[in-house]
Amino acid sequence: MKARFELVIVGAGFAGLYMLHRARQLGLGACVFEAGSGVGGTWYWNRYPGARCDVESMEYSYQFDEALQQEWRWSERFATQPEILRYANHVADRFDLRKDIRFETRVIAATYDDGRWAVRTDKGDEVSAQFLVMATGCLSSTNRPDIKGIDTFAGPIFHTGEWPHEEPDFTGKRVGVIGTGSSAIQSIPLIAQQARQLVVYQRTANYTVPARNAPLDPEFVARIKADYPAFRARNSLQINAFGSNMPRSSIPARELGPAERRAALEARWEYGGLFFLGAFGDLLLDQAANDEAAEFVREKIRGVVKDREVARLLSPGQIIGCKRLCVDSGYYATFNRPNVRLVDISASGIDEITPQGMRVNGSSHELDALVFATGFDAMTGTLLRIDIRGRGGKTLQDAWRAGPRTYLGLSVAGFPNLFLITGPGSPSVLTNMIVSIEQHVNWIAECIAHLRSRGRGTIEALPSAQEAWVEHVNAVAGRTLYTQCSSWYLGANIPGKSRVFMPLLGFPAYVERCNEVAAKGYEGFQTS
Ligand SMILES: Cc1cc2nc3c(=O)[nH]c(=O)nc-3n(C[C@H](O)[C@H](O)[C@H](O)COP(=O)(O)OP(=O)(O)OC[C@H]3O[C@@H](n4cnc5c(N)ncnc54)[C@H](O)[C@@H]3O)c2cc1C
Repeated sequence: MKARFELVIVGAGFAGLYMLHRARQLGLGACVFEAGSGVGGTWYWNRYPGARCDVESMEYSYQFDEALQQEWRWSERFATQPEILRYANHVADRFDLRKDIRFETRVIAATYDDGRWAVRTDKGDEVSAQFLVMATGCLSSTNRPDIKGIDTFAGPIFHTGEWPHEEPDFTGKRVGVIGTGSSAIQSIPLIAQQARQLVVYQRTANYTVPARNAPLDPEFVARIKADYPAFRARNSLQINAFGSNMPRSSIPARELGPAERRAALEARWEYGGLFFLGAFGDLLLDQAANDEAAEFVREKIRGVVKDREVARLLSPGQIIGCKRLCVDSGYYATFNRPNVRLVDISASGIDEITPQGMRVNGSSHELDALVFATGFDAMTGTLLRIDIRGRGGKTLQDAWRAGPRTYLGLSVAGFPNLFLITGPGSPSVLTNMIVSIEQHVNWIAECIAHLRSRGRGTIEALPSAQEAWVEHVNAVAGRTLYTQCSSWYLGANIPGKSRVFMPLLGFPAYVERCNEVAAKGYEGFQTS
């Protein structure tokens, strides 16, 4: 295809779908390119057993259309991947979005020249657009560690983030799962039920709290739906843009007695989910507060896991919440099963993959299938895989060589009319991402409308505003415990990636700043 658009959107996950809808409302000619064969992004690719959201379903959904949020029925407190994917498809159908989406088409390059972006795809499309929106996702490029011998393995190899559409059957099989992050923690209990033997290879133990998932209570749903907009508004005022039903405590741990601290932790452990991190106002700010919460979880692990050595290995030592907290259904108890074995690879890694399995710490493990639950090259990986060239031919790879630099996480100096949705430097992965996505899409749509109403064709972040923003993001992170461990928030899971804390903590303050920038005529941007 050779065509001219006002707007090209890359990606048809929740961000791309809503951006297309808003573009149409503005009367913009828009086209979406999507590498997958369907909509849904994360929920199209991550079909592994046990995949589900860990922000509650009643919140993990769009709020832009009251009729949509009233009519859709979630069945569980934390929806499963198939249900979320059905929802994404429902949205695409309801708003007739598919006709402007080109599936199975990957954008490989985008070059800015004289007010327009020239976009190329792997299918030979060459389209031109005034505005380019990267709705490419924060967790959409899988991380596949380069392990010696990987190509020699005789059995199938799966990655949780690129799970086949036809469900693999592990019945009677010896399965190795590499990794113990969120996807592993969700899938291991289910793979263990099917496989003859499951071997879990762990480099770093992660904290996980019980989901306490259950079918949704119709009365609870009715209560929320009776005033959904007000519920959404309350959630938007939370630091992570979700969870007004169980808000973060404002009381620092040191102002509570030992029994009160214990009760606060127990209450949140029983409630289930990510709310655990809100037990104290300073849980992610103060080492002592954090230590107490971390030890509480280790105690719970010792209470569940019968083998003392396995319990010790499963007990994380790092700051709790510093790496993304996981939410599980029966993870620790799975290690009591006779067919499940935990192998510690923290010291020496995996020696090699062989046709029959793996060699670890000098001994051979025979396996029929391998599952890589090794996560993503988060936040920047997908963007940097595209050859994006801004003003003067400067590449994004060059601009971000020392780590990502953005203004508001929305825009990059030297790359006019390019917008990032949930880009580095915005709250993104520290929030309910659908809330962050809607906020970004609305901001972008209003920005484009503003430019048009004033007869302007381009907008670009000023380098000075971008520098100040990068400093601000670093300063906010520096006041927390987030920077104290090797997490994917920092790029630490990818060899050679620069260590920069990429998301910004604090959704409400961020929204205020974005609104202020717009109200001041797009302060920190130049328009022409
Ligand atoms: C297993 C898992 C569970 C999660 N659970 C939660 C949760 O509970 N709560 C929460 O807030 N967030 C969660 N997330 C984060 C989740 O990614 C976001 O909530 C949200 O779905 C992101 O939507 P998106 O449209 O921004 O990106 P994505 O859903 O990642 O969509 C991006 C799309 O862009 C496409 N794309 C990328 N590059 C190109 C290219 N060059 N050309 C064409 N197409 C391209 C991809 O194929 C993909 O379909 C989870 C993530 C994972 C992986």
